Amino acid sequence: MSVVVVGAGIVGASVAYHLARRGAPVTLIDRAPAPATGATGGSFAWIGGRGGHWPGGAEDLRGSVLADHRRLEAELPDVAVRWSGSLRWDGAPVGAEPGEGRFRVGADGIRALEPGLREPPEWAVHTPSDGGLDAVAVTGALVRAARGLGARMVLGAAGVALKTVDGRVLGVTSSAGFHPASTVVLAAGTGVRGLLTPLGLELPIEASPARLVRLTAPSGLVRAIVAGPEFEVREVREGRLLMTVPPTSSADRALRRLQASFHGADGCRVLDTRVSARPMPADGPLVGHLVPDGSVYLAVLHSAVTLAPTVGRLVAQELVTGESAEELRRCRPEGRILRGGG
Ligand SMILES: Cc1cc2nc3c(=O)[nH]c(=O)nc-3n(C[C@H](O)[C@H](O)[C@H](O)COP(=O)(O)OP(=O)(O)OC[C@H]3O[C@@H](n4cnc5c(N)ncnc54)[C@H](O)[C@@H]3O)c2cc1C
Repeated sequence: MSVVVVGAGIVGASVAYHLARRGAPVTLIDRAPAPATGATGGSFAWIGGRGGHWPGGAEDLRGSVLADHRRLEAELPDVAVRWSGSLRWDGAPVGAEPGEGRFRVGADGIRALEPGLREPPEWAVHTPSDGGLDAVAVTGALVRAARGLGARMVLGAAGVALKTVDGRVLGVTSSAGFHPASTVVLAAGTGVRGLLTPLGLELPIEASPARLVRLTAPSGLVRAIVAGPEFEVREVREGRLLMTVPPTSSADRALRRLQASFHGADGCRVLDTRVSARPMPADGPLVGHLVPDGSVYLAVLHSAVTLAPTVGRLVAQELVTGESAEELRRCRPEGRILRGGG
């Protein structure tokens, strides 16, 4: 077998790393000159923080997410999760069942967890097991580790396209040449739609815009991942914050909201802001073979920073062993192809 993975975001990097770890020959290819320039590079990168929202097959992956992140931390020295927990009062449900690990905390509890907040709400949902990471750094670490295990990297390739002969996909062509593959894994986020056009296939993948703002801040100003109705904020590393605000809002408004919400935020400054298109398949993750001959495999999902370690492990397991992973059963593309699927 030989696999070409298209897309060096966190999903493609994770798939390539897990394949290389299993000894499979793998090439990771991207049109961008560096990994993580897509949605991954503009991500808030909160792990776990889905409240009760795990659509479709994501629900079946939920129980593995934290363990897979901890495993990656153990396997790769450059992967570090800040297990800070989260506090949210944006309408997310409190854990309905015992053991869900979400707790309702009152204003005093919120003050103890997040002393910088000027006006804590009456109550919030505290999830101590949540964490966050630097999605660019982690994607880079996965790419480096995959390369160290023998994976080939083709970055900055122009004209990446599926190579088909008589309807069968033989690999990928690009300005860097022909990359033959027994299976091409499409992990190109919103770019998957364009890559599938020559096959006449259309999938329900939305490009959903979201804004990230990066700021400087005094270390420890924000301790947990804080999610109110108007913004989310977390410390990504000492002295650096990430915020998400609506895409129509601005970085200056985000800064003003931060300063109005936290004591000690007066000296915070905006570093940059960007709006990224989040790949968002309808009805949950799309993961699995796309055509009956097994030559094209799809890996497109939302909340992929949370799910990438688990999905990468399971995709590699399926491709190397040829056995279907039960956990991915509800993620399959079958029945979800809008056009051209017969
Ligand atoms: C503001 C914001 C906040 C978010 N917050 C969270 C969060 O808190 N937690 C969470 O889990 N998720 C979050 N997400 C979502 C998460 O970031 C995405 O689900 C994830 O990054 C998607 O990763 P990916 O690898 O599938 O896609 P991408 O990162 O978009 O990577 C796709 C890659 O494919 C390449 N590509 C595309 N088309 C082609 C082509 N034709 N040829 C060659 N290469 C191609 C691109 O260059 C890119 O490198 C957030 C996203 C945003 C924008």
